[in-house]
Amino acid sequence: MINVQEIRKDFPILSRSVNGKPLVYFDNAATSQTPNQVVDVIVDYYHNYNANIHRGVHSLSQEATDKYEAARIKIQQHFNAAKSHEIIFTSGTTHGINLVANGFSALLEKGDEIIVSALEHHSNIVPWQMLCERTGAVLKVIPMTEEGTLDMVTFEAVLSEKTKLVFCNHVSNALGTINPIETIIEKAHAVGAAVLIDGAQASPHIKADVQALDVDFYVVSAHKMCGPTGAGMLYGKEAWLQKLPPYQGGGEMIAEVTFEKTTYADLPHKFEAGTPNICGGIAFGAAIDYMNSVGFDTIATYEDELLQYATEKLSTIAGLRIYGPNDHKAAVISFNIEGIHPYDMGVILDKLGIAVRTGHHCAQPIMDFYNIPGTVRASFAFYNTKEEIDILFEGVVRAKNMLS
Ligand SMILES: *Cc1c(COP(=O)(O)O)cnc(C)c1O
Repeated sequence: MINVQEIRKDFPILSRSVNGKPLVYFDNAATSQTPNQVVDVIVDYYHNYNANIHRGVHSLSQEATDKYEAARIKIQQHFNAAKSHEIIFTSGTTHGINLVANGFSALLEKGDEIIVSALEHHSNIVPWQMLCERTGAVLKVIPMTEEGTLDMVTFEAVLSEKTKLVFCNHVSNALGTINPIETIIEKAHAVGAAVLIDGAQASPHIKADVQALDVDFYVVSAHKMCGPTGAGMLYGKEAWLQKLPPYQGGGEMIAEVTFEKTTYADLPHKFEAGTPNICGGIAFGAAIDYMNSVGFDTIATYEDELLQYATEKLSTIAGLRIYGPNDHKAAVISFNIEGIHPYDMGVILDKLGIAVRTGHHCAQPIMDFYNIPGTVRASFAFYNTKEEIDILFEGVVRAKNMLS
């Protein structure tokens, strides 16, 4: 059993007011809140051992390096990677995807095919379109269904010997759909294609095991799992990371530099040019510790309860439509009320202290599919409560009466 009132004490921001009302924070799919345990680690870094890593012989540098590398191992263990050098620190999901897409420029030829799902965040679409422009590869799409799930029959029809890479999110940030990535990985591997899974939205709800999934690349952002912004990780199978050329050149990523020829450092440093977000990486490790102390099974069970409660309650409002699957989804509710623009709904909810996201959620193709300008999205975390959902319900009813 989760003790939400105790957990909420770890998040002082949850006790503040917004527009004179107690904050109800339902924008967790955009970024999660940061507990004291993580903020303390950030403060400790700058108070006590701020130094550049991997270079200095002095003690502070050694201390910072040790903590940074310890965080890498924490992340490795959390996602069950076989080797710590398969974990590359990034600035977030977007960075991780661009790193891989850039590397594939060297591996693709004209006429090769790569496959994207229709449920993607723009950050898992645009870097691949840029890759196609550079290489002449062709981008194919796994279409979506009215229920907000992937059309797996068409996926199999699109897959062929020409397919070199498939990329898809684990959980859709716009709809909450949990995608059948096990099947996608298996089918893609059967034709010799590699798979990148965007785990940004799954990581706060589901503990992914990259070895069990047999996935080639898995990317996440720390700020969606109680960590700081500007930090994240790319997991890549060792063989793939060795095959990919470096993304950025600079300090830290070299073995030897002369003007004739530069040789690159071993993994993971080959992909970590320049001074990284040292504090962010260490705090990411602390965020993983925090989430594991609550427990991912506990989180999943409780968030599911919140999701069911909110779905039932909001469904009683006439004219309200929820987009996405009815079951098997993460704690995201994307909805509209007939005749009301999502932005107008968002503005009124904000006046009531309720933070939701409105708009296309960086997933315009999904909005185009439904032929809508956007949705109102309420996304829940383990520190939210049913009382907050009641406040959302009353707010939506009030906004509806005001706007229609
Ligand atoms: C948030 C999100 C991203 C982008 O993450 P950044 O932290 O902005 O790089 C990509 N994909 C999904 C599914 C997301 O939810």
